[in-house]
Amino acid sequence: MTTEFRDVIENLNPSILRFDELRTLQLNLGNKCNQSCTHCHMQAGPTGKKMMPRAIMQKIIDFLRNHPNLCIDITGGCPELNSNFKFFIDNVCELTSRLMVRTNLTVLLEPGLDWAAKWYRERGVVLVASLPCYTKENVDKQRGKSVFEKSIAALRILNELGYGYEEELELNLVYNPGADFLPGPQEQLEADYKRELGEKYGIRFNKLFTITNAPIGRFRQYLEVNGRLEKYQQLLVENFNPDAAENIMCRSLVSVDYRGVLYNCDFNQALRLPIIDSKGIPATIEQLEDILSGNLEIITSEHCFCCTAGAGSSCTGSLVNKPLGV
Ligand code: SF4
Ligand code: SF4
Repeated sequence: MTTEFRDVIENLNPSILRFDELRTLQLNLGNKCNQSCTHCHMQAGPTGKKMMPRAIMQKIIDFLRNHPNLCIDITGGCPELNSNFKFFIDNVCELTSRLMVRTNLTVLLEPGLDWAAKWYRERGVVLVASLPCYTKENVDKQRGKSVFEKSIAALRILNELGYGYEEELELNLVYNPGADFLPGPQEQLEADYKRELGEKYGIRFNKLFTITNAPIGRFRQYLEVNGRLEKYQQLLVENFNPDAAENIMCRSLVSVDYRGVLYNCDFNQALRLPIIDSKGIPATIEQLEDILSGNLEIITSEHCFCCTAGAGSSCTGSLVNKPLGV
């Protein structure tokens, strides 16, 4: 019998599925990317055509003028490949004290993008960079040939600019498992990354975020092809952690897609599960103010168990210090 996420949460504490307070606005600028990683839940790649236009960006900027204390989390695809990226960041960075951009690192070495690293520095953008392992073998397997070498080269550029060294230039890395298992303890992995990247390559960074793979997108296809989907889903359910459930990120985050449609998170965006307005249609950025003043219920499905398994998972890493049983 399938275990429903909603039933489990309602038995624990039904108020968890009510939105609490907007603290992070996550903005997906499109699905174009210079990589095609095997675990990508957005199925992004070089042929991605979805691109947030300037008109939607302007609506987001208008919303932010009335909400200056939010954390802004920019993602994609590769946000740097949106042709209006500079316009958007220049406007947004004046309206927030914490602007995070998720970069895949290798894009910083692409022809015509050599301005990006220095430009980030000048604006004090917090960088959140994907690097799913500190070994070449694991990174290239998940993200493509030569990605590890290029990522190290990009990290060196960022370190030389002060990222990972100066307090106001935060550089965080993201780990996700190479297959269908849960991440190890975040603190321990961070120490391993710091030792390995420091000793072998002289790389420094601030924090490591461990993220559990959601069984959606390309990772779901991998699980299906290998007959492992059911087992992985079972692993997530069996490791349900009530402490992590109390802290799921969708209680304080709203995700916006390239068309301005609103979601409870990036995973719901990938699954096309939008926030629905009072007329029963997908809500958009123009309605965010109204949506927030209502009693917003979080839309869940079986993939939500990836946020509550073990130490929990969010776009900024684990949700509790220790997985159950540790
Ligand atoms: S995981 Fe990130 S870097 Fe890889 S294809 Fe998806 S958006 Fe691009
Ligand atoms: S997948 Fe999204 S909606 Fe579900 S629990 Fe995680 S953050 Fe919330």
